[in-house]
This record gives sequence, C-alpha cells and structure tokens, in this order.
Amino acid sequence: MTRPLPAMTGLTAQFYEWCSRGELRFQRCSRCATFRHVPRDLCAECGSFDWEWARSSGNGTVFTYTIVARALHPGFADAVPYAAAVIELAEGVRILGNIVDCPPGELRIGMPVRVDFERQSDAVTLPVFRRALTT
Ligand SMILES: [Zn+2]
Repeated sequence: MTRPLPAMTGLTAQFYEWCSRGELRFQRCSRCATFRHVPRDLCAECGSFDWEWARSSGNGTVFTYTIVARALHPGFADAVPYAAAVIELAEGVRILGNIVDCPPGELRIGMPVRVDFERQSDAVTLPVFRRALTT
C-alpha cells in the first residue's frame, strides 16, 4: 500500500517541484518581504499579490510534535511509531513534516533541525527534517 501524496496542482505543485530539485523555497512577499506557507496567492501581512519563491536556509527548530503510534492509513503501517512535527524555519514560516533520524523519545521542542528531502515518486519529493548538529 502506497502512502497518500500531495496533489500536484497550482502553487502546491510549484512548492514540491523546488523540493524535487533539493531546494526548500517559500513564497516571499515582494512588497513587505514576509515569508508564507502554505502556498497561496495573497500576503496575509500586507495584502499584496506580488511574491517570489525565495530559498530557505533549511534551518529551523521543532515548534511542536506528536508521536503517531497507530497508523491511520495502511501506507504508514511500517513507519509507526513516527514523529509528525511542526518545524519553525529561520525565515519564520512553519511547516509540517517528519523528523527522520531521531527516535521519538529523544525529540524535544526547540530542538534544532535541518531540512533534507525524500523522493516519494517521480513527481513528489517531500521535505523531511533531521537533527542539526549543535556547536
Ligand atoms: Zn506582504
């Protein structure tokens, strides 16, 4: 059983096309420079429709997370338990993703993470996050 994947349409498709190239990009307002995610036409900060895809540093921290212990879709049966987390990127946007190199019991809110990418199909590559080395 394969896992459900994002529908590749509109701005969402553009977001995942950047991921397929190994780049995490978010929309950045051309008027006020505010980053936003999930993809949408309008800046919630200033109301502008002008924007560009701006590359993220890929660095962030765990904003919150949950441990999924029971698969709610057959495609995830071999993955449990796994962490579904909200990551706050350095640019200020938050994105939902998996943390792939960290046993669930070691996760902490505020933990530094860095983006990586996992190819799911010919069309879809998902951003995932790994623990970042701290200095
Ligand atoms: Zn704006």
